[in-house]
Amino acid sequence: MNKYWSKLVSQLEPYVPGEQPQDQQYIKLNTNENPYPPSPRVLAALKDSIDGSLKLYPDPNSLQLKQAIADYNNVSIDEVFVANGSDEVLAVAFQAFFKKDQPLYFPDISYSFYEVYCKLYEIEPKKIPLDQNLSINLSDYTGENGGVIFPNPNAPTGKALPLSSIRNYIEKNTETVVIVDEAYVDFGAESVIPLTKHYPNLLSIQTFSKSRSLAGSRIGFAIGNRELIEALERVKNSYNSYTLDKLALIAGSTSIKDIDYFQHTVNTIIATREETSRQLQALNFSVIPSSTNFLFVKHQSVAAETLYLKLKSQGVLVRYFKRPRVDNYLRITIGTEDEMKTFLQRLKDIINS
Ligand SMILES: *Cc1c(COP(=O)(O)O)cnc(C)c1O
Repeated sequence: MNKYWSKLVSQLEPYVPGEQPQDQQYIKLNTNENPYPPSPRVLAALKDSIDGSLKLYPDPNSLQLKQAIADYNNVSIDEVFVANGSDEVLAVAFQAFFKKDQPLYFPDISYSFYEVYCKLYEIEPKKIPLDQNLSINLSDYTGENGGVIFPNPNAPTGKALPLSSIRNYIEKNTETVVIVDEAYVDFGAESVIPLTKHYPNLLSIQTFSKSRSLAGSRIGFAIGNRELIEALERVKNSYNSYTLDKLALIAGSTSIKDIDYFQHTVNTIIATREETSRQLQALNFSVIPSSTNFLFVKHQSVAAETLYLKLKSQGVLVRYFKRPRVDNYLRITIGTEDEMKTFLQRLKDIINS
């Protein structure tokens, strides 16, 4: 430990994102990015905007983007919060809602950033085990908590809960904020956004990184009761007024208006996912039914770590987590049809060698 570091810094265990090799030679199926480019309208709008206006600060309230998100989701603009990726929305929400005397509940196998933020913001975590089918069982989340967060669909399992079970849960857990991290909701689950009108402690967090092909723009948002949103604004405006830059504001608001392109790319990914799932099962993988843009799979005889390393040496990156309970699974992002064909061919060669 360096003597200049604070005690907190020396205890942090930062999040480790999936590899982002800069030589671009890999088929990248490891970080759940969208294999298709953003809507062509986004590129056109960005080109039109390169007019010198970057010398000025962006709108600190991001009104243009918030309005587009509000219109798409049938909510009002003061029920929308935006920030630099949903990771930042999560960071702001942890500070706004979860610094409590009771622990924060979240699944033991889930998005690993939750634990990282607990350390950073000095929040006590309470990890609730997934059941034996690797499902979130919300009846395990009762008890005194300082807040609850889970992804729906969950990552890395890809499993979704029905809206009815979330509604049942929120009926009972009324005293603390419940956040549903809906990073993958567009690929096959039901959003809680319509429920936020009825439950003042329910917050949906979503991102443009996956279903809208804008991981490089860093755009995330939250939708919920206006008083929850006001709490998020208070935190954000206490450390940075300009979390979204001008280009991101343009990219995001243009992207969400191109509904046809969005539906087409999402539906293509879903079709490719289902075909890939069939092919993997034919190769003796067990495949958890997915409501996301990735598959979580386990081979009958070949170890996941072996497959991960051999695929990498052949130019295909998938995600392997060396964590209890899931260390024999691979998480495979759905790429283009061509990418998945190449991936399956190389996998077949490895398994049969
Ligand atoms: C990808 C992901 C995020 C982060 O998304 P960004 O908007 O790119 O920061 C948040 N939660 C889950 C569960 C994710 O998979």
